[in-house]
Amino acid sequence: MIAEIISFGTELLLGQIVDTDAAYLAQKLSQCGVSVYNRATVGDNLERATAALTLALSRSDIVFCIGGLGPTGDDLTRTVIAAALDAPLVRDPALVAHLTAWFEKRGYTTSDAIFLQADVPTGGVPIPNANGTAPGLWVEKDSKTVVALPGPPNEFVPMVDNEILPRLQGTGFVICSRTLRIVGMGESVAEEKTADLMAAANPSVAPYAKPAEVHLRVTAKAASADEAEALIAPVADEIKARLGSVVYGEDDQTLEEVVVRLLEAQGKTVATAESCTGGWLAQRITAISGSSSVFHTGVVTYANESKTGLLGIPRALIGAVGAVSPEVARAMAERVRDLGQADFGVGITGIAGPGGGSDDKPVGLVYIAVAGPSGTELTKNIFPGQRADVRWRATQTALDMLRKQLIG
Ligand code: ATP
Ligand code: MG
Repeated sequence: MIAEIISFGTELLLGQIVDTDAAYLAQKLSQCGVSVYNRATVGDNLERATAALTLALSRSDIVFCIGGLGPTGDDLTRTVIAAALDAPLVRDPALVAHLTAWFEKRGYTTSDAIFLQADVPTGGVPIPNANGTAPGLWVEKDSKTVVALPGPPNEFVPMVDNEILPRLQGTGFVICSRTLRIVGMGESVAEEKTADLMAAANPSVAPYAKPAEVHLRVTAKAASADEAEALIAPVADEIKARLGSVVYGEDDQTLEEVVVRLLEAQGKTVATAESCTGGWLAQRITAISGSSSVFHTGVVTYANESKTGLLGIPRALIGAVGAVSPEVARAMAERVRDLGQADFGVGITGIAGPGGGSDDKPVGLVYIAVAGPSGTELTKNIFPGQRADVRWRATQTALDMLRKQLIG
């Protein structure tokens, strides 16, 4: 079934509100196998709105209209549907009674305009609105369907979930996907290693570059969720076999969650000493529930005096090699491991920019050390991007270095 979504509202065209309704609906439709081929936004103008709906009906089986169902002058959707389908509006007595009761119950006075919401295009059926006055509409004519939904998200979302999706079940296929999360391998390498899988259609494999990680989404279309899963599983396994340990997790699992769970499973703890990341690594670890059993100590030693005062890193060492150096990163990791009596210590020191770089030590240079039971590992990184990117990438790399030590 081919669908189109049209969002009505001048405020959408002006960028004053963001079309979260259409995004929500599009996602839900794809999950139940309805293919959305076009989306449009049109202002509160009768002629242009009718033209948009007429065009949509010429190329789609079902058209979803969002917004413009209220009682005010700029709410044109009912009129537009009546015009595009040549299905004149008829006032529905049951809706009139419902609206009257709704207003009386709340002690509100009614006006004639309120009852515009009781107008239904000929042959159409109103869709109950549990959270507002304007009903939705389901109108079928000449093998085409138009569905109208109220704009306010608190009315729209429940109507989609409780009224629309159940009516669409069984009309198409289900689409399921699984996301494999990759760290420490670029998008192009991941793509090269899975090119043949990406060329396939069902399941399809698509790469998404995220900040300092890559997601490969495996998507299958089938008659049921179980069948879709059965198509996805062997391809996901094949990708994991080809890429190895760079695949750190699936779906919503974050890198920090994976690391915390590994520490938990092994009964190990980690302590952190951060400079340029200002505690962001500690924040990511402690955002995970259960982290208190694996994380006891984190320090932000931003200034040289603090690196010396709190961690006992010799002033002379910092003087000789600089705070951003492999030696200082290593000392931070090892000292905080001792200080926190932890199994692992992480040290991060670098230049996040935009100032403070030099030819020798450019912006983006970050040394990261992880001290563990089998010694200290150190990386020199020159991260691209703005200050926030550099800091994020540093936490990402530190977590991945720790993860690799944990998985051996
Ligand atoms: P009402 O009965 O409130 O007039 P309506 O169905 O006529 O509802 P609109 O008048 O188009 O809907 O929009 C009402 C409000 O709903 C907007 O001001 C906006 O806050 C929200 N809204 C409308 N369309 C969308 C959309 N596509 N995505 C998110 N919010 C929306
Ligand atoms: Mg309105």
